[in-house]
Amino acid sequence: MNFSDHISTTPITAHRGELVDFCGDPRDPGLCHIPPVRHTEDGLLLVQDGKVKATGLAADMLPLLPAGVNVTDHRGRIIMPGFIDGHIHYPQTDVIASHGKRLLDWLNDYTFPAEAAFADADHASRVAEFFLDELLRNGTTTAAVYPTLHKGSVDAFFAAAERRGLRMLCGKVLMDRNCPAFLRDEAESSYADSAELIERWHGRDRLIYAVTPRFAATSTERQLELAGKLLDEHPGVRMQTHIAENLEEIAWVKELFPWSRNYLDVYDHFGLVRPGALFGHCIHLDDASWARMASSGATAVHCPTSNLFLGSGLFDYERAHREGVPVAVATDVGGGTSFSMLRTLHEAYKVAQMGRRAFDSLDAFYLATRGGAKALGLEKQIGSFDIGLEADFIVLDPDATPILSRRMAAAKTLKEKLFLMMMLGDDRAVAGTYVLGKKATKPQSVIPDTAQR
Ligand SMILES: [Zn+2]
Repeated sequence: MNFSDHISTTPITAHRGELVDFCGDPRDPGLCHIPPVRHTEDGLLLVQDGKVKATGLAADMLPLLPAGVNVTDHRGRIIMPGFIDGHIHYPQTDVIASHGKRLLDWLNDYTFPAEAAFADADHASRVAEFFLDELLRNGTTTAAVYPTLHKGSVDAFFAAAERRGLRMLCGKVLMDRNCPAFLRDEAESSYADSAELIERWHGRDRLIYAVTPRFAATSTERQLELAGKLLDEHPGVRMQTHIAENLEEIAWVKELFPWSRNYLDVYDHFGLVRPGALFGHCIHLDDASWARMASSGATAVHCPTSNLFLGSGLFDYERAHREGVPVAVATDVGGGTSFSMLRTLHEAYKVAQMGRRAFDSLDAFYLATRGGAKALGLEKQIGSFDIGLEADFIVLDPDATPILSRRMAAAKTLKEKLFLMMMLGDDRAVAGTYVLGKKATKPQSVIPDTAQR
């Protein structure tokens, strides 16, 4: 390979370390002609124009590099694609770890009051800045994000994401009943507001709009119908919502939509169950719903820390996989208790253990990277080191803490190393986060951070 004959004149940068990424689902090795996990102990990742240019053995590639290429030495550390968080609420940054409620009380007592503050665009901007820096500090480079129903909350989020060059999904929350009057929109205005925001943000830079009915219980039938219309009118726009998180919620939805065969049927009736649609939680789905998820190509989003914290139940990854339903893993902050995908994978393992189901470290890191990208319909953009993909990646430090370092020293296989990383690692293990090949640093905030507590 000769790197000097590249057409682009922008400089190549190189990162040397232990490269880990996936070319396929480790549970489906037969679908991949090479092992699904790609692992190069002393590897080189080349980046040009913000894209992955090449990967391989450092010993093979270093002699071929053109003169003057800057090689950043991460030896002793793991380089892998940035984490993908399939479901997170940025306005709930300030209610994370609020004590002692189950879902419906938690929404009323903590979430809705916190979200009301996002009527103030300056407040929204300040929280968006903190939130994105916190994601990057934890190694998360893409997320499917819920704002509030306020248009300004979407503008604030996308503007902050665009300043950081991030690939992010977000869209105004739709909520026209069963919520406080100060947090209620109405069906027709929510349609118009969403269409305006799609026009403004969808496809701009790396940003993707997602039509976001909060959940069936907080939308009228007219609002859900218009959500489906938005999706029909704007190809490429995503859909995200919640489903089957909690038994009381499911009973309530049945009361509100007595004609429905099951919870998923409510969304299906209005055209919201479609390829790439993101359904958060999927804990208590019946057989018919699993079958419909599979036939539609919709994604189940697994939020383990939130499901444990709110006592909602145990997601069944084995079932999802068996049914052929794509899965993303997510923090679901602020019902979730950590911004860290490592902490989230840790809890996903325990959820599987409680259900006597298998979930190993290869499953975990696949879902947090390439699997998550695939579930979000972004496998051709992010999630692996395939040539030409956007170069969002992280550097993980096996020596981040004394106990991690001590245990890592005895690890013999990649699988063991990754398991230790997800069970003992957290934000401290993320030594660096790179967005489009550049180290992510906190940009100058446009608004002073003084209003933060
Ligand atoms: Zn949620």
